[in-house]
Amino acid sequence: MNLPHHPPAITSLMPIAPRPDTLFVRGAGAWLYDAAGRRYLDWVQGWAVNCLGHSPQAIVDAVAAQAATLINPGPAFYNLPALALAEKLTANSGFDHVFFASSGAEANEGAIKLARKWGQLHKGGAHEIITFVDGFHGRTLATMSASGKPGWDTLFAPQVPGFPKARLNDISTVNRLISDKTVAVMLEPIQGEAGVIPASGDFLRQLRQLCDERQLLLIVDEVQTGIGRTGHLFAHTAHGIQPDIMTLGKGLGGGLPISALLATRAASCFAPGDQGGTYCGNPLVCAAGLAVLDTLLADGFLATCRQRGEQLAAALRALSAELGLGEVRGQGLLLALELGADCGPEVVTRARALGLLINAPRPHCLRLMPALNTTPEEIETGIAVLREAITDTRKTPT
Ligand SMILES: *Cc1c(COP(=O)(O)O)cnc(C)c1O
Repeated sequence: MNLPHHPPAITSLMPIAPRPDTLFVRGAGAWLYDAAGRRYLDWVQGWAVNCLGHSPQAIVDAVAAQAATLINPGPAFYNLPALALAEKLTANSGFDHVFFASSGAEANEGAIKLARKWGQLHKGGAHEIITFVDGFHGRTLATMSASGKPGWDTLFAPQVPGFPKARLNDISTVNRLISDKTVAVMLEPIQGEAGVIPASGDFLRQLRQLCDERQLLLIVDEVQTGIGRTGHLFAHTAHGIQPDIMTLGKGLGGGLPISALLATRAASCFAPGDQGGTYCGNPLVCAAGLAVLDTLLADGFLATCRQRGEQLAAALRALSAELGLGEVRGQGLLLALELGADCGPEVVTRARALGLLINAPRPHCLRLMPALNTTPEEIETGIAVLREAITDTRKTPT
């Protein structure tokens, strides 16, 4: 068969994102291959989704075996992988109940619904959820409204009401928004799409205390930070807090579409009929989730992941000092490099031409999110290409 080397100039796909003229046809571990046979070191990994890299054996085997056994009995019946994955998630977290969905946005919609239900039952119909400027929670109408992304308040107006915005790491801005209509506070432990902006440990602990005092639910959106991304199974555990509700997505399926909403017994108040979905707890994607968790929970995996994160952060700091760039932020293998100028998109394009895939969540910074099982050598390779891409971009007059 004669494969095309490029996508056609005009396709039948809706133009929802500016896509480069590259057709990826194969992936293996840290590497993606295009139709012309060129390979790229992938530090995007499906937007921090492929936590074990491309087509890892553990997921390939688990999904193949499950596909041959049972793909879909339907969401209103029990299945073994869903039961096992829920057990494993609750056994390794401070939560008691799990609802599975297919995307991060859908898990967050579930969290919003759960908080509103809890407000009906326990707080006289309180329904407002305080969220944060520059936060990102997904692309459904409610999760866009919960997000604080500039411009999203008018795109697809009117918004879903009930999401007043506070400022990250400023507890007084949260305090000021609390009223008898407030039921919860919802945030990302590290704002990923905003450019990897961490909530401080002090701020998270202040929020926990405030929520306790005012009888509010604390919801952490760990769709990006969860499942080992920060070197911990969940980012919030590094700060010694126990939220009432947590959402997971991205890394949970290692590339397959599964997300989860977790709640403590006290917060878990859905009754039959309140929540559901055709693909919820589908055994095929749950089998992938089990393969991911088994790998991450194996002895030494997360400790090694933290070491790789330290290696990459140190290399980025050295590169920043060498080239006179800005701050290095983040935790584990969710890191950002400030460029000191709005040249992010050009660096991304140049790096791709040199064989490295990275992402610029904001024009002035780059985000690096390699697979969690990346090797020291791959990190050295990536840093060398990144140095070249930034140097080249600076030489080109814009
Ligand atoms: C990616 C992301 C989402 C949305 O997940 P989808 O699977 O794209 O719906 C929600 N919250 C955070 C923090 C994310 O990074």
